[in-house]
Amino acid sequence: MKPKIIVHGGASNSNKNEPERQKDVIDACKIGYEVLLEKDAVDAVEITIQNLESSAHLNAGVGSYLQLDGRVRMDASIMKDDLSTGAVIGIEDVEHPISVARRVMETTQHVILSGPLATEFAHSEGFPRYDPRTRPKINLWMEIMEEFRQKTTYEQIFHVDKYFKEKKYSLGTVGCVAIDAKGNIAAGTSTGGLKMNVPGRVGDSGIIGAGTYCSKFGGVSCTGHGEKILILVLGKQVINFLKHKKAPNAMDAVRYGIEELNSLPAEGGLICIDKDGNIGYDYNTKFMTMHYIE
Ligand code: ASP
Repeated sequence: MKPKIIVHGGASNSNKNEPERQKDVIDACKIGYEVLLEKDAVDAVEITIQNLESSAHLNAGVGSYLQLDGRVRMDASIMKDDLSTGAVIGIEDVEHPISVARRVMETTQHVILSGPLATEFAHSEGFPRYDPRTRPKINLWMEIMEEFRQKTTYEQIFHVDKYFKEKKYSLGTVGCVAIDAKGNIAAGTSTGGLKMNVPGRVGDSGIIGAGTYCSKFGGVSCTGHGEKILILVLGKQVINFLKHKKAPNAMDAVRYGIEELNSLPAEGGLICIDKDGNIGYDYNTKFMTMHYIE
């Protein structure tokens, strides 16, 4: 099998900072491809997402959006085609949530660790403490909080998402799918969530079957409106399109996936590789930062 890798840096209706985001996505994809030539698909997915998490231009790891209370809480998940999988939700103070997700997969009997105890798990496993907040994201948070304070009261904080519906928020999660020379497939997704998330909110990226899914039929990483992706169980649906032969290849599978989003409607994007090594990607936003090597 010819090794292949596809990477996304989020779907969005704004192309603000697109050249920087595109560069970081291409660089991460190239690094991941080098690893893919030597190692397994899961290693390539982890290294690629680590690189994306280190980019201040993307919304995962370093550079994640701050939540309403000024803290960064991140979600990540990783999955292999033998159905082994791990995820973290609401993790803080680490640089690479994707690697903690992999550690959950490989060293525990569980699939998901969440909240402060996921952070504690990471630190007890030797992941260094790391504050992922960047100055531009802190400034953005301060700006929005000021505007929010003028329009509403702090008591309405749990309804701030309704307030933000008036504005188009930008997305920016990262994800990767790879197939190695042995035909092993792996997929992963990592995010800082939506801009100004209500603390405690859970999106799709850390939920297996929603933001990430992988089986012997293919692997997929989703980006977009997390609540809607959760409702659709979109990752699993895309792979089911392949499994049940509704879609003959990854490109058709993601197209059906986007039809599901359109039916709600909801915005987002998908990347996929099927068992035959076909690459698929599609989105219904104006832009999706992405790159692939085959
Ligand atoms: N899906 C992510 C979330 O809802 C956001 C994104 O893809 O940008 O947390």
